[in-house]
Amino acid sequence: MTAPLLRLEDVWKSFDGHDVLRGIDLEVAAGEVVALIGASGSGKSTLLRTVNLLEPIDDGRIWLDGADISDPRVDPDAVRARIGVVFQQYNLFPHLTVLANITLALRHVHRTSKRDAAAAALALLERVGLADKADVHPDRLSGGQQQRVAIARAVATSPALLLLDEITSALDPELVAEVLDLVRSLADDGRTIVMATHEMAFARDVADRVVFLDDGRILEQGPPAEVLVAPREPRTREFLARFT
Ligand code: ADP
Ligand code: MG
Repeated sequence: MTAPLLRLEDVWKSFDGHDVLRGIDLEVAAGEVVALIGASGSGKSTLLRTVNLLEPIDDGRIWLDGADISDPRVDPDAVRARIGVVFQQYNLFPHLTVLANITLALRHVHRTSKRDAAAAALALLERVGLADKADVHPDRLSGGQQQRVAIARAVATSPALLLLDEITSALDPELVAEVLDLVRSLADDGRTIVMATHEMAFARDVADRVVFLDDGRILEQGPPAEVLVAPREPRTREFLARFT
């Protein structure tokens, strides 16, 4: 057994005395795609944010590639440089062109030369089907195109781990597929992905494992064919019934 790429060990987090994460234990192997499902408020975003060190945890430990990133002495920027993140919306810097959005981290965090960063960004834009949009600003793009750029930006630095937080939830229904297709192709590349999602059909297709979060606890997890099709827990069944 190789060590997991990501490991959360008994992670607790509260806001204003209210426990939002209540003893999360989770391991994600390199190359694994994990879908995080659960009702609104169950703690999905908070969980993802603790991994990216956007929320300090109250107790427990988080390991990335064998290093304890919950140690207060770690440099959060060094950790974030190894993690790509896409949120539901407001991902792109509005004052920068599409190309500059993608090259920013390459140039400033990874110290890539201007020429190499631009070449890498253009290759990525080609891949996400937006090479002709390199020089426009994000407000000229559809929501689906913006999310595809946000994904291109998130993978530009070749992060070890991708965190996707309901990246299609704010999109018009006809724009969801183009974004999910891109996530599917990243999964096919063997990237390690943890994604909070309400797209159950997609999770069933693409995820290696589905994790059901209920009020800050992992109530049930396993292969999609088990958790989504034949859940053991009544609360999982109750949650999934909303999607049928
Ligand atoms: P989900 O992503 O599953 O909808 P969240 O992680 O966003 O759930 O939220 C879990 C709970 O934590 C909710 O009750 C939410 O109101 C609360 N919460 C999240 N972030 C904060 C915050 N910064 N301050 C106070 N409460 C928060
Ligand atoms: Mg959320």
